[in-house]
Amino acid sequence: MQEKGNISIHTENIFPIIKKFLYSDNEIFLRELVSNAVDAVQKIKRLAALGQYQGELGSPLVEVSLDEEKKTITISDNGLGMTADEIKKYINQVAFSGASEFVEKFKDAKDANEIIGKFGLGFYSAFMVADLVEIQTLSYQEGAEPARWVCDGSTEFEITEGARSTRGTDIILHINKDAEEFLSKYKLEEILDKYGKFLPVPIKFGTKTTTEPDGEDEEGKPKTRQIEVDNIINTTNPIWTKAPTELKDEDYLDFYKQLYPFSEDPLFWIHLNVDYPFNLTGVLYFPKLKNDFEMQRNKIKLFSRQVFITDEVKDIVPEFLMLLHGVIDSPDIPLNVSRSFLQADSNVKKINSYITKKVADKLQELFNKDRKSFEEKWTDIGLFVKYGIISEEKFNDKAKDFALLTNTAGENFTLNEYHEKVKDLQTDKNGSVVYLYTTDAAKQDSFIQSAGKKGYDVLVMDSPIDNHFINHLEQKLEKTVLKRVDSSVVDQLIEKDEQNEHVLTEEQTEKAKQVFEKAISKPGYQVEVVALHPDEMPVTVTMDEFMRRMKDMAKMGGGM
Ligand code: ADP
Ligand code: MG
Repeated sequence: MQEKGNISIHTENIFPIIKKFLYSDNEIFLRELVSNAVDAVQKIKRLAALGQYQGELGSPLVEVSLDEEKKTITISDNGLGMTADEIKKYINQVAFSGASEFVEKFKDAKDANEIIGKFGLGFYSAFMVADLVEIQTLSYQEGAEPARWVCDGSTEFEITEGARSTRGTDIILHINKDAEEFLSKYKLEEILDKYGKFLPVPIKFGTKTTTEPDGEDEEGKPKTRQIEVDNIINTTNPIWTKAPTELKDEDYLDFYKQLYPFSEDPLFWIHLNVDYPFNLTGVLYFPKLKNDFEMQRNKIKLFSRQVFITDEVKDIVPEFLMLLHGVIDSPDIPLNVSRSFLQADSNVKKINSYITKKVADKLQELFNKDRKSFEEKWTDIGLFVKYGIISEEKFNDKAKDFALLTNTAGENFTLNEYHEKVKDLQTDKNGSVVYLYTTDAAKQDSFIQSAGKKGYDVLVMDSPIDNHFINHLEQKLEKTVLKRVDSSVVDQLIEKDEQNEHVLTEEQTEKAKQVFEKAISKPGYQVEVVALHPDEMPVTVTMDEFMRRMKDMAKMGGGM
């Protein structure tokens, strides 16, 4: 058997183009070839299960090996293999079915992912790092002959008789000069770890030594010996592929440790599992937040059938949940298309709102089941919830029932509970309920104290998100305004204790006021002599709430 021919493609030589445009991301050749090998193994298993393959299945295995001297990387599998005809069909033609379209569009492509998926260049990504690619393969089909395919990166290929004696395929890459960095054990290990850590078929890369028990010595102490075993780089059944009922808390925590070795335990997690109208599994963790939010973003890993794709999950995960950690696996997310397409994709939209709903449901469940523990976690969860409430109407609809407000005494209230608590006493002249809050309990302590004396409650609103949350509450709550505890409104509220003991006469009060007003003559501030009770501050300087917010906004530049 011997055949020479041309890869059917309508352009002279596409490989220089591939190399040039895919260069930045060339490590994904390994992801593509290893996932093809995994697919081949999965396919033979399926054929066996369907009774269409009766032969020996063997232990499914994909092996990656490196020959530094020969400058080759080989990806071998014991999958279903290919006949010479299948090579012609799947490798020579199909891979380039979109080639003319490719040539037309390659100029706009921003990264390798985009091209690889769109034009079915999976296998051909090998040419990003190799100047000669060889396939040695033996099909599972009865009477199949081993076949060999060689291509040097031009459009010419050669098919000859192959050398494989067992079912499966070897892809042998003769690494080119520019890609010699890949001829390193550590480099390959790193890439395999990145993309293949959770592939469903064992991936072997070399061997490693371990110790195993080896009887007892003369004194009866257990002995061990060193043995060489296959170095399997992956876990084939990561927890997101299992049913939640099979898993214990420890399993979730262990997996978290595996993903983020140096992190504190997460607060809780959500197991995602849906197969209609799209397919998606995963586990999302609520981390304990650190101050440096930026460092904690983009920690969710996106997989497609257990192949790692990216940790850029923007658009798939709602913005307010970008601080979550964990994994999402979906074959239905279009991985290889541009950002704008992703945003418009209806599956992505559905997935986004599914995740929002799941998170809201989980929080509601935690709240209902164990309010005390929910309250303990609120400092961490509160940030997500408030952000979600502000940014996602659908989330707000659900979260308004479990969002908490915390007062200076450390008590927590739902929005409804809080309304009930303050509505009678904290009402202004217009009949609006006034929620008082502090942005800095230490600085505003004297105001908090005097509000407390009057029987008012003060909320703590001291996180960066609270500025926006306050605005949101005012928009959503009927006839409710929020005023900082040191604003000029406090004294306009109805007081619980009407019998105030005046220590100054009205005349004295007026005099004092004038003195202070002169001393503090800044626009926007109001001076009030409120020495009505013997144990209160004699004078307060307040500012109108609206004026203050404007000033604060100007200081922050209006951003978030
Ligand atoms: P895709 O994986 O998206 O189908 P590829 O370009 O990666 O596209 O591969 C093209 C085809 O070549 C595969 O669909 C498969 O039929 C065949 N193929 C590639 N690698 C192997 C392999 N290791 N074993 C068997 N068939 C393979
Ligand atoms: Mg492929």
